[in-house]
Order: sequence, then C-alpha cells, then structure tokens
Amino acid sequence: MSLPEPPPFARKFIKKIDHLGIAVSSLETAVPLYEALLGATVEHLEEVPTEKVKTAFFSVGETHLELLEPTDPDSVIGQFIAKRRGGIHHLCFEVTDLDAALAEYKARGVRLIDQVARPGAQGCRVAFVHPAASGGVLIELSEKPRG
Ligand code: ZN
Repeated sequence: MSLPEPPPFARKFIKKIDHLGIAVSSLETAVPLYEALLGATVEHLEEVPTEKVKTAFFSVGETHLELLEPTDPDSVIGQFIAKRRGGIHHLCFEVTDLDAALAEYKARGVRLIDQVARPGAQGCRVAFVHPAASGGVLIELSEKPRG
C-alpha cells in the first residue's frame, strides 16, 4: 500500500501545533501541578462561556498546554472527565485562514464537527475536526485574531 501524496493545503494553512488541550476536574488542583512540572506560572486564564470551560494556558517552548476545567458537568469537557477522568483531550493546529481550511477539508470529505468557525479562547476563531478523520484524535483548528 502506498501513501497518498502529501496534501499541499496542509502546508498552506497549517502553521504549527499551537497547543495540547488537557481536561482537568479542577484548575485549582491542576495549575500548581503544572507549575511544578514546567517550572513556569500560568500565562493566561480565561473562562470561555460558549464552551462552558475555564482555561489556563502555559507556554512550553514554542507551543502551549491548555488546561480545561468544565463549568458545567453536561459540557463536552464535563462529559469527557466523567467518562475518562481527564487527560489529553485535543490537539490544536494554528491555521492561517480557518474559513479556507474548512472549505478545503469539506471539499476533501474530511469529517468535521464544526461546519463554521466559532469563538474560542484568547479571541481566536476555532473549529473542530471529528476524531474519525484522524484515527481517534480530536483536532482543533485555531486562527489567531487579526491585527
Ligand atoms: Zn484548545
């Protein structure tokens, strides 16, 4: 079996791994653990009401860790914790043009959770790709605010 040609759109739109999202039941408990582990303090704290989470970002070299605490047990992160007790939840790629990336994925039949971008943390626009499209990893696409 030969592998398909590397898709040129990936090089065109995907800039880098922006962060790894980790679900935790409590930021109050998890933040000191990661501060000790990384030897760094939290860079950014934010509540994202649309996702029903509180987030804490740490810088790790050129990428980040995003800790996610649910503010509602029925939220996506709340259900993830109930099922798996937390852990790595998603991988986030920074993209230069989210709308173009989504259009490209749709054209290629890549299964998406979000057909259109929605608001994420830190003023980013985000959309999620279904884990079925990646062999089991939930992938977030994130476009930084412009200007
Ligand atoms: Zn994320």
